[in-house]
Amino acid sequence: MKERDTLHNFLFEHAAIRGDMVHLDATWREVLKRHEYPAPLRSLLGELMVAAALLTARLKFEGSLTLQLQGSGPVTLGVVECSSERLMRGLLRWEGDIEPGPLHQLMGTGQLVITIEQRRTGERYQGVVDVAGDSIAEAIERYLAQSEQLETRLWLVANEQSAAGLLVQRMPTRDEAEDVDAWPRVVQLADTVKDEELLGLDAHEILHRLFFEEDVRLFEALPVAFRCGCSFERVENTLRMLGHDEIRSIIEERGTVDVTCEFCNQKYVFDAVDAEALFIDRPVSGDSSMHH
Ligand SMILES: [Zn+2]
Repeated sequence: MKERDTLHNFLFEHAAIRGDMVHLDATWREVLKRHEYPAPLRSLLGELMVAAALLTARLKFEGSLTLQLQGSGPVTLGVVECSSERLMRGLLRWEGDIEPGPLHQLMGTGQLVITIEQRRTGERYQGVVDVAGDSIAEAIERYLAQSEQLETRLWLVANEQSAAGLLVQRMPTRDEAEDVDAWPRVVQLADTVKDEELLGLDAHEILHRLFFEEDVRLFEALPVAFRCGCSFERVENTLRMLGHDEIRSIIEERGTVDVTCEFCNQKYVFDAVDAEALFIDRPVSGDSSMHH
């Protein structure tokens, strides 16, 4: 089995078109190991993971990109985070039985929220598209058309071993001599890509098969990996926000406060002493935060 876990950028030498390709192998299986997903949701989460990695290729600063699906059900929530270092995690929450179907059927009425956060400044940019369409690819295409006014096409696929995707984007150009047929031609060629090609082949093999008559420059592979950003400190902060009374009542009822990270299944256990210590060092209450 190929272990790729890569993001590749590429461009067409004689046309104002660029692209990205993502292959998730071990990264994707780390996510699947942690929760048992019904097949249609496995595809949905895999596509969401690949879409996040593809979009991270355009981050121009250190930070992170989060794709969040919010729906009325059966899927109620989907979250995928990918950092500019391409460390990623993801999960879906759902209720009841899942029948295979288009995105709007899996999500009911809902939205895809795209959040980009700059690490140094903490600045956040947010975009929202509804999930009325058939697929994640379609929702991302609409988001990019709105936010960047650039024509973009995506192909996303996932199975139980790998998840992969291809993105091509038409760049703005002032070149009068530009090959005006290039964009429809590249889209038509890219559209012939088969799921098994995307899942099974390397980036250079895929580009060669699709665009063998075009002059395509493929850049070096950038690594992608699974990593959960959860930590003891982050869990402590979350518990502080719940408040001293709430934490005390949990301790009285159960003896410990147990927190399990949904992304990686890491368990954090606080006994009575740990729980009291949360409110000694840095007392935070709902009231004090309101003065900011
Ligand atoms: Zn975690």
